[in-house]
Amino acid sequence: FYLGDKMLIVQKFGGSSLAGAERLRRAAAIIADCADAGNKIVAVVSARGDTTDELLGQARRISADAPARELDALLSCGETGSAAMTAMQLADMGKSCVSLTGAQAGILTDGVHGAARILSIDTARILRELGDGKIVVAAGFQGAEEGGDPTTLGRGGSDTTAVELAAALSADRCEIYSDVDGIYTADPRLVTGAVRLDRIDYGDMLRLALHGSQVLHSRSVEAAMRERVRVHLLSSFTRKEGTVMCDHPDRPGLCGVTRDPSLGTVSVIGREANAQVLAEAVAALAHSDIIVTHTELFDGGCSLFVSPDRLLPALELVHRRFFR
Ligand code: ASP
Ligand code: MG
Repeated sequence: FYLGDKMLIVQKFGGSSLAGAERLRRAAAIIADCADAGNKIVAVVSARGDTTDELLGQARRISADAPARELDALLSCGETGSAAMTAMQLADMGKSCVSLTGAQAGILTDGVHGAARILSIDTARILRELGDGKIVVAAGFQGAEEGGDPTTLGRGGSDTTAVELAAALSADRCEIYSDVDGIYTADPRLVTGAVRLDRIDYGDMLRLALHGSQVLHSRSVEAAMRERVRVHLLSSFTRKEGTVMCDHPDRPGLCGVTRDPSLGTVSVIGREANAQVLAEAVAALAHSDIIVTHTELFDGGCSLFVSPDRLLPALELVHRRFFR
């Protein structure tokens, strides 16, 4: 299929960027503007707002251990509906578009329900729709296994759909829109004084994601690293600069502090996060009432284990020690 000299852009929108009529219109306007500027667009959408949590809640009210296959059949509805509604919004704005489920978009996964991995993507259908001049709106987070049954990629998995689609389509650009305009030295919603990074290295981002940062699904970082996809992290609310995830040879020694509530850890990430940095982080907490029960040093970072109810103050103190 010949797309002419047009740029092919993958744009992913997270659930909060699509919640409610006003935000849905805003996201659709970003897509429409980009298409009007002469680009081919594949939009990847998450379930709107808290849909996934609500569907999970409904399943739990029926059964404490619903079959994984049926959970996937249910959860995938969130993204399927979101894609249809985004396409309706675009159609209402006069745009030619089509929504596709993961299966329709050619996304083949293994059969691990709830944590499926993408095995391959047959891009024929998407390329045909783009060739017909349509904006494609693909449901994120889902695919189909060999037998055709719907699968889901794990919480936050729409990011992975976007990166894998960008790689399979050799897209010129991959943009991920959320409610935060990029990667910060700490979650700006939790820590005052957190600073936005212009660029972040794949390896640093992978460690941030694996140690509690919710900005990107860790498998999407892994895929971007493997396929060398540059990912632009942007906000659908501000249209500001954002952060580019890419190879970043002269990256800063330390790039951020994260917390992981499920582990009770605060982690400092960066190639210079060595034993010295770990000792300084422990010292930063010494004059507070926060007790460090255990520490861990790993390649490119270190973690402090603290009592779960002291995570937020610990995060702030450690961040202040290294980033102010
Ligand atoms: N809707 C799914 C979730 O909440 C997938 C996603 O948003 O990426 O985890
Ligand atoms: Mg997410």
